[in-house]
Amino acid sequence: MSINIAIDGPAGAGKSTIAKMVSAQLGYIYVDTGALYRTIALFIKENNISDNDIPSSLKNADVSLKFIDGTQRVFLGDRDVSGLIRTPEISMEASRTSAIPAVREYLFGTQQKIAKENNVIMDGRDIGTVVLPHADVKIFLTASAEERANRRYKELMEKPNCPCYEEILSDIVERDRNDMNRPVAPLKQADDAVLVDTTNLTLEQSANEIIRIINEKTGR
Ligand code: C5P
Repeated sequence: MSINIAIDGPAGAGKSTIAKMVSAQLGYIYVDTGALYRTIALFIKENNISDNDIPSSLKNADVSLKFIDGTQRVFLGDRDVSGLIRTPEISMEASRTSAIPAVREYLFGTQQKIAKENNVIMDGRDIGTVVLPHADVKIFLTASAEERANRRYKELMEKPNCPCYEEILSDIVERDRNDMNRPVAPLKQADDAVLVDTTNLTLEQSANEIIRIINEKTGR
């Protein structure tokens, strides 16, 4: 039986950076499910698909994940779109279209299959509540919205056309609101998840705390 670790939490809580550090230490595959929702958003945008037509168009989407030297790459058809999906515009489109039940159903099987076949650390919004309700360990990773915006701002400030702090904060707050209030698979802490608040923790401290929780729960 594979070991499954679910990490959920709001945008910018450090899930992917921390989950990558933890999976490298434990030798598990890291699965970033947000990349799947982003790729669907890219497919919808590139093909100008109206909301009404999304359910019937998904069968043509052909989204897949590949793990190259342990690193996840996401494909749309045979195109590696791992870089293309990392824009603020796609973040917002993913936040909007991920509320559509047909989109969630389309991606559900892909996520479950990877977790069944591998030891995984899977991050997202509904992994502990919906995708892997029987995960061995569930973590809900969070930080204050201001701290999350501050971290994102520091990452982006060197890049051209960097959005200002206020813009980043309002995007984060809007995405949290969309994710927490959608009727299907909303972002929420599973009853049996351990809450880790990283507002005042470094990345190393956060990763160490998660490894401690995993070891405690899996008896390693
Ligand atoms: O994690 P990331 O910010 O890349 O995810 C992009 C968007 O995909 C999120 O804002 C969220 O709306 C959606 N998402 C989701 N369920 C997941 C992962 C991501 O609804 N398991």
